[in-house]
Amino acid sequence: MLLDTFGRQAVDLRVSLTDRCNLRCTYCMPEEGLQWLAKPELLTDEEIVRLVSLAVRELGVREVRFTGGEPLLRPGLVGIVEACARLEPRPELSLTTNGIGLARTAAALRAAGLDRVNVSLDTLDPDVFHTLTRRRRHQDVLDGLAAAEAAGLAPVKLNAVLMRGVNDHEAADLLAWCLEHGYELRFIEQMPLDAQHGWDRSSMVTAGEILDLLRARFALTPEPSASRGAAPAERWLVDGGPGRVGVIASVTRPFCRACDRTRLTADGQVRNCLFATGETDLRTALRSGADDAELAALWRAAMWGKKAGAGIDDPEFHQPDRPMSAIGG
Ligand code: SAM
Ligand code: SF4
Repeated sequence: MLLDTFGRQAVDLRVSLTDRCNLRCTYCMPEEGLQWLAKPELLTDEEIVRLVSLAVRELGVREVRFTGGEPLLRPGLVGIVEACARLEPRPELSLTTNGIGLARTAAALRAAGLDRVNVSLDTLDPDVFHTLTRRRRHQDVLDGLAAAEAAGLAPVKLNAVLMRGVNDHEAADLLAWCLEHGYELRFIEQMPLDAQHGWDRSSMVTAGEILDLLRARFALTPEPSASRGAAPAERWLVDGGPGRVGVIASVTRPFCRACDRTRLTADGQVRNCLFATGETDLRTALRSGADDAELAALWRAAMWGKKAGAGIDDPEFHQPDRPMSAIGG
C-alpha cells in the first residue's frame, strides 16, 4: 500500500505520458521557450506499463489516469491502455486530454479498454479559444468530444479553467451547453503551476465567484459531502438534477486531507503531490536493474513523506519548479 504519515492511502495514479502539447494555454505554458524533456529521459512504453503494473499489483492502486502535456501525442497510447487493461486486478482507466485528435482515436482507445475521458474546454467561442490556447483548434475539440461520446467513453467530463476578463463571462453558458449535451462540467480554480510563473492570487477567479456566476442562471443544490469521497470536485445538482456541476477549489478550499493520489512523471519520477518540491527517481533505479521489491520500496518511501497539504494560500508557499505540463495535470 502507498500510505503517508497522515493515514492517507494513495489509490489513484496519474501518469504523465509526455510534457509536450499542441496547445499553449496561457495558464499552463508560455508561447515558446519551454524546454522539453529529451527522448532518452522519457520512460518507454514498456517501462510505463511495468511501473503501472507494479502500482496495481503490489501497491494498491485502483485507478490510473493518463495525462500530460497532451497524452494523445504519445504514439504508443493505445498499446499502453491495452496493456494496463489486462492487469489483474483490472484498474479503472481514464484519460485527461485537450481533445485534439480524439476524433481519430476515441474508438480505438475504448476498444483498448479506456473507461472514461475528461476533455478540457474553457470556451464555446472559437476566438476566445484562440486567445486562451494560442491555437485555432476549437472545432477539433468539439469533434473529439462528440467522438468520445459516440465511442461510449461515458460519462464524458469537461474541465474548464476561468480566466478573469477572458472567459469568465461564459461560466453559465458553458454549463448550459454541457447540460444540453449530457457532459459533466467541472470548473478548476487556476493554480500556480504555469511554466512562466505568472499566476496571481488576486486575479484568479475563485470557486465562490464561479458559483455566483452560475447561480445567476441556475439553482444549485450541494450534493451530500459523503458522496464526494476523495474526489477533488465539490458537486452541485443543477435545477434539482439530474444534471450536475463540479468545482475544484484547489486554492480556496483545498481537499488535501482526503487526497488519494500518487503521480508518475513522463521521465519516471514519483511525486506525492502536484505541489511537491521533491521527487523520487524510479527511472534510474529501473534502468539500473532494480527488481519490483526495490521499486515498490522507493515508491512507498516517496508517499510516506507526503506533506499534510499543498499550502497554496500559505505565505510561505513556493511554486514547484516543474510546471503542470511536465508533472501531469
Ligand atoms: N493537455 C491535457 C488537458 O489539457 O486536458 C492534459 C494535461 S492538463 C495539464 C490537465 C488539466 O489541467 C486541464 O484540464 C487543464 O485545464 C488544467 N490546468 C492546466 N494548467 C492549470 C492551472 N494553472 N490551474 C488549473 N488547472 C490547470
Ligand atoms: Fe496543453 Fe493541457 Fe497545458 Fe493546455 S492545459 S497547454 S492543453 S497541457
